[in-house]
Amino acid sequence: MRLCLSIVFLVILFPQCSPRIWAEQKDSFARLRERMVQEQIVGRGVKDGDVLRAMRKVPRHLFVPQKQRAFAYGDYPLSIGEGQTISQPFIVAFMTEAMSLSPNDKVLEIGTGSGYQAAVLGELVKEVYTIEIIEKLGLEARERLEKLGYTNIHCKIGDGFQGWSEKAPFDAIIVTCAPETIPKALVGQLKQGGHMIIPVGRAGAVQKLVKATKKDGAIVSKEVMRVRFVPMVKDLD
Ligand code: SAH
Repeated sequence: MRLCLSIVFLVILFPQCSPRIWAEQKDSFARLRERMVQEQIVGRGVKDGDVLRAMRKVPRHLFVPQKQRAFAYGDYPLSIGEGQTISQPFIVAFMTEAMSLSPNDKVLEIGTGSGYQAAVLGELVKEVYTIEIIEKLGLEARERLEKLGYTNIHCKIGDGFQGWSEKAPFDAIIVTCAPETIPKALVGQLKQGGHMIIPVGRAGAVQKLVKATKKDGAIVSKEVMRVRFVPMVKDLD
């Protein structure tokens, strides 16, 4: 009896603890997510059914700071702390589709950030390796992805310019921060015929989003869009 009364008091004092309200919140996030996919992603031409399925499934609101949850499905990037951002949903879907992934692929991501892009990839391929240079973000993302049950996503704190040679070669590489030129080590770690999607250009300026394909050891690249990403930094001093 005493236990029941305590639970009733808790629910009155902290309504966000009520299972009914939790269920309603979950439901309304699912509706916002569906609208995001229809309006921002399908509406702008992303067609790959597997990519759309992944975007419908990953709970983006759990990848942004608590205070920003209500805005998680908006058509813009959001701050995730440490001066970094989670990309706009359309950009995540577009870059994912551009890699033409297959279920057995092993993918490298540079710039883990919140872990959201890694989770989308984790829904689509066999193994995801992701590197983040800011320790706090990398550790938080690892914990978040573990809690959500992504056993195929491997997080490392380190410098993305070096790639992850022990796990190379990769079927595809996605870079979610902008270097001034395509890093050589990453080209070396991409399989023949594999695609790399990467923003290239100066910090603070508009950058080119480049789709680079490895053919006979060389890179053939094509600009696919104009974008603005945070810089890919060499060190944190
Ligand atoms: N993909 C992320 C968004 C990334 S924002 C998401 O889905 O949330 C870009 C990230 O790249 C930032 O977290 C930044 O710290 C990281 N970054 C910048 N330079 C880096 C480098 N040299 N190596 C690894 N990560 C880097």
